[in-house]
Amino acid sequence: MSDNNLPRGDWPAMLPGWVWLVGAGPGDPGLLTLHAVNALRQADVIVHDALVAPEILDLANPDAERIDMGKRGGRASPKQGEISAELIARARAGQKVLRLKGGDPFVFGRGGEEGQDCIRAGVPIRVVPGISAGIGGLAYAGIPVTHRDVNSAVTFVTGHDAGGDTPPLDWPAIAKASPVIVVYMGMRNLGEIAGKLIGAGRPAQEPVALVQSAATPRQRVLETTLGQAAPDAEAAGLGAPAIVCIGRAALLRQALDWQALVAGHSPRNPDPLGSG
Ligand code: SAH
Repeated sequence: MSDNNLPRGDWPAMLPGWVWLVGAGPGDPGLLTLHAVNALRQADVIVHDALVAPEILDLANPDAERIDMGKRGGRASPKQGEISAELIARARAGQKVLRLKGGDPFVFGRGGEEGQDCIRAGVPIRVVPGISAGIGGLAYAGIPVTHRDVNSAVTFVTGHDAGGDTPPLDWPAIAKASPVIVVYMGMRNLGEIAGKLIGAGRPAQEPVALVQSAATPRQRVLETTLGQAAPDAEAAGLGAPAIVCIGRAALLRQALDWQALVAGHSPRNPDPLGSG
């Protein structure tokens, strides 16, 4: 290990005036990339959102300034333009700017928009992908997003558009074409989304898993069905941030819930698809 606690190697230096758009993964600091740790060690200022775990921010250079652009906690959401303006102003002031986002910066995280704003302003960027909640968060619940006996396609959708409504997707087409549907930001409109999919022919009995705060010490998983997902979530007090997995992939948790194994339990059902 070198003195920045990274494995020996040629890690890129953050340069003053640059903005790095970096994914922090779903929560567990162990899911950070080495490039993300390299950036945390060097940044002068870290502009992060609410989904970035405190344990991850603790890895930052202690002298770094932290700006919380979180959109939770009852405060008014900063407008997207305000975040970009902050990034650009800091870069122009000659700082090494780390824009740290939950999951992957380019997956439902507006990293693309922020990057474009920087580029338009003449501020150079570097992008560090992260493990997205819709893949890694589900893996932490023991759910594989693809499995040969379930699906050879998966669809990632957002549960609401900028105005909070369900996005204007071709839900019948998705219902027909995609055996597994992974919904980000799906809790608010869960009943409506389930209703659209059932209306388009998906069985109300279809397995669904909801994973709240995946890959954090607060992770909670609810196994339910498409028809019952919204009422069950409400009854269980489950809310954002949560990933919704619709499809038979959710059943595989009965076999692959590795966190239960770590806790000393036996697998519930080694063959939940009944295919072996
Ligand atoms: N860029 C992020 C997604 C941001 S959108 C990524 O790639 O993961 C915010 C949504 O992501 C949340 O509403 C939730 O659906 C999901 N999400 C992010 N982190 C999560 C976590 N730890 N557990 C469950 N869902 C999470």
